[in-house]
Amino acid sequence: MLRSEGTGDTTGATAGTVAPSPTGGTFESRDPATGTVVGVFPVHDTAAVDAAVARARTAAERWAALGFGERRLRLAAYRGHLARRLHELADLVHRENGKPRADAVLEIALAVDHLAWAGAHARRTLGPRRVHPGLLAVNHAAHLEYQPLGVVGVIGPWNYPAFTPMGSIAYALAAGNAVVFKPSEFTPAVGAWLAEAWRAAVPDVPDALQVVTGLGETGAALCRAGVGKLAFTGSAPTGRTVMAACAETLTPVLMELGGKDAMIVDDDADVAAAADAAVWGAMSNAGQTCIGIERVYATAAVHDRFVAEVVTRVEALQPGSDADASYGPMTMAGQTDVVRRHLADAVAAGGTVATGGTVDGGYVAPTVLLDVPETSAAVREETFGPTLTITRVADAEEALTRANDSSMGLGGSVFSGSRDRGLDLARRMRSGMTSVNAVLTFASVPALPFGGVGESGFGRIHGEDGLREFTRAKAVTVKRAPLPVDFMSFGRPAGAADALARVLRLVHGRHR
Ligand code: NDP
Repeated sequence: MLRSEGTGDTTGATAGTVAPSPTGGTFESRDPATGTVVGVFPVHDTAAVDAAVARARTAAERWAALGFGERRLRLAAYRGHLARRLHELADLVHRENGKPRADAVLEIALAVDHLAWAGAHARRTLGPRRVHPGLLAVNHAAHLEYQPLGVVGVIGPWNYPAFTPMGSIAYALAAGNAVVFKPSEFTPAVGAWLAEAWRAAVPDVPDALQVVTGLGETGAALCRAGVGKLAFTGSAPTGRTVMAACAETLTPVLMELGGKDAMIVDDDADVAAAADAAVWGAMSNAGQTCIGIERVYATAAVHDRFVAEVVTRVEALQPGSDADASYGPMTMAGQTDVVRRHLADAVAAGGTVATGGTVDGGYVAPTVLLDVPETSAAVREETFGPTLTITRVADAEEALTRANDSSMGLGGSVFSGSRDRGLDLARRMRSGMTSVNAVLTFASVPALPFGGVGESGFGRIHGEDGLREFTRAKAVTVKRAPLPVDFMSFGRPAGAADALARVLRLVHGRHR
């Protein structure tokens, strides 16, 4: 990314896809493989962000008034548009993020599936329902519904520039909110494309999804713009800054932060399958996956076989940007410095490089590290590169203890020959999501909530929890008939409290 006043050598996409910012200047996004400019985008300043949020507020009223059924139709039109133009968007994701086209297609397919689920399940999850009024309000009808917050701000990352923000956007829209989305400065073209697609597919409420582009300050302006909620995905340090900015206006936040996800390989695991999954979980998308596998704890019974299987597979990987590439360059050039630091630290602390360990320009060789001390940065901090540490442990219990010894807890994986044992370990893993005998699967199940514990953040996208995340519960009671004695009136008779105590004793007093 370069900040500039000019346009440079572009491939066609221009700042024209989002509303210009008269005062903020422009910036470029570049293909990380070639350095070619993908697009030039406005830096939306505070005034421009406030204007977008004001337009969204108006759109939110119309969007909410449409109701679940009409919104579902429009969300279907949006996903139809994305599905029909999938290759166009995949090409843009490939050029701006660097990942192989096939991975971009997979990412968009997941986003479309989540859109479909959110649209289809919003009414059942959020719509009005009667609930039991309980003993003291037996003469009232009790109604519950989940109402939209108005405008939701979404600050998204560059690693899955379509799928990750859609986890907030789709669910917020389905719940009846308008959305103002600030994509990462590394992937503004994908964000702008998503908003333009919305305008084309849903022309009667075009401002229900808008994009503002820019750098960190544009995101900060969105935090202060008075949105109903701010959904942030990114690093923990920036998450803290975002929370602090949102605190100024008491804007609630959803935090999807980093991970240091672990895989446990038990004695009776299918070692070849575990190795295959570990390599995909660690290396796909150049390791730039918040739920990527960064640490493996393999029991002594399978450790050596597992390492051999992993190394064989890793050595067949080919980083690059052509059609055969296993994964692309690091999207953010500066990320190679983090990877280098973690590699150097791991080796200095006594770890060994089983394969890889080199960085060539923006490409990090697929790397397997062994015997890295648990105190090393490669084990404790999010690396966000195609690297994997493998550690020998006595048994699965030790693996679980080590897996859980992390400030973060986003996802994770367990490989076990026993379904019950795998499920038990998964339940006890300190993370928001765990796959048994697979990796990352939970993210592709729209009905399952997605989010972390500890420094991986809080709040949930996806599933019913993800729909409710972008709403406020509204409780209403409607009096149906008077009771002979109204306890909530100064006119109640003197003996009313005694009568109530007798009823209470009858109903609850028998429980010991
Ligand atoms: P950041 O957390 O810095 O940025 C994430 C998003 O927040 C971007 O859209 C960014 O905009 C925006 N932002 C930055 N500063 C502010 C601010 N002051 N107020 C509001 N919004 C702001 O992540 P990076 O992209 O810089 O990546 C750094 C590290 O974060 C990675 O190495 C990785 O470890 C982790 N990460 C984790 C992700 C995950 O899915 N868990 C996703 C991405 C990163 P802009 O890009 O314009 O600066």
